[in-house]
Amino acid sequence: MTFNKGNEVEVNKEKSHWQKKQYLIASATLIVLIILLAAISIRFPISSVAGGEKERIQAKIALALEEAEHLYQGFYYDEALERLQQEPELITDEESDPIAAKITEIQNAKNSLVKYEGPAHHVFFHSLIVYPQLAFDNIGHSAKGYNMWMTTVSEFKQMLPLLYERGYILYPLEECIEPDPEKEGNVRLKDIYLPPGRIPLVVSIDDVNYYDYMKPDGFANRLVLGKDGRVWTEVITPEGETICTRDGDVMPILDDFVAENPGFSWRGAKGIMALTGYEGALGYRITDDLPDEAKWQQEVKAIADVMKDNGWSFACHSYTHNSKWFREGKATLKQVIYDTDRWKEKIEPFVGKTNIYISPFGFLWDNNDPRFRYIIENGGYNLFCPVGNSRKFKINGDNIVMPRVNLDGYTMNMRPEEVKTYYFDVDMVLSPERPPLNL
Ligand SMILES: [Zn+2]
Repeated sequence: MTFNKGNEVEVNKEKSHWQKKQYLIASATLIVLIILLAAISIRFPISSVAGGEKERIQAKIALALEEAEHLYQGFYYDEALERLQQEPELITDEESDPIAAKITEIQNAKNSLVKYEGPAHHVFFHSLIVYPQLAFDNIGHSAKGYNMWMTTVSEFKQMLPLLYERGYILYPLEECIEPDPEKEGNVRLKDIYLPPGRIPLVVSIDDVNYYDYMKPDGFANRLVLGKDGRVWTEVITPEGETICTRDGDVMPILDDFVAENPGFSWRGAKGIMALTGYEGALGYRITDDLPDEAKWQQEVKAIADVMKDNGWSFACHSYTHNSKWFREGKATLKQVIYDTDRWKEKIEPFVGKTNIYISPFGFLWDNNDPRFRYIIENGGYNLFCPVGNSRKFKINGDNIVMPRVNLDGYTMNMRPEEVKTYYFDVDMVLSPERPPLNL
């Protein structure tokens, strides 16, 4: 409609009258509508919740997917499927149903696992150097010894993502063997199934005892159970302050790395802590008849229980490692008997039974050697780990031998090509804080 200037006023007047009428009608309708809605919501409270119900279901779906995803990333396939099927009312017949799609994805992943046929990888460390300036100052223990046999915190942190990129996945040593159905008491290798391209890796840490001689040299002081239920490292700073940290040794670092990268660990597996006994365990003097011994024994037990619940195992690393009896494998049968029995009496009650023996100085004896028979039969160990880089299991009937490679200053300096072939480029890891290693 078009208007000329002359009748504009008349039209506006008419318009405003009509608008007023319209406004009254609208207001009345609104009031009626409000009354009606109020009445309905009193009679049928559910109809006003309908929108909330939909949101509640969406939140439940999101939670189920999130929890299942976390389990799935850590290779808990059955547990993830169980979680998704826990609330069948959340699954619809729609083709794009998110839960049904995730179930299919997980089932496919589970069905695509392949039998691992490659080398047997086991790497080990000692307690990590937290403060290189103290370890390499040549005051106390010789810098050369630490430079050869130890790894620093920064090096270890550098290695983990590189090992993960290479396809490694932490795998429990105990899961590498099973009873041999052909002969009672014997063990055989158990098949390992992993996603294509992934490589099982066993990790162990020797002498998790926090010996007195190492304490002033920049290593952790002991392990402690935090109020948060996790195991932390207690560290004394160069300034003399006692602090609790998440990176004072292999254990908390690996725990945190796996928490962030569940795909680096097969069903939560972490590593093996090898303990001696002559200065107690985990930084607690539980073998010297000291006044607080009973209390410390319970602390060691509490820490060990938490560790075991979080994918860690313990191993016997001899009781008298310091005696040098075992150096070059020279111990007598009498010494072996004393040592094996002593560990079982003084350490095992607090860390629990284990079937893993990690030999001090990496010795390996012939399977028929009476000393070896004593360790296997009387000690009850059917997994024996010396040091060596054959990357092959040796099957001995009632025990299986798995050699281990030390990823420390010695190996990184002396065998960088081997390290590069299997694990990582040494140049990306070796700490510039190390002095040159002159051998
Ligand atoms: Zn050792």
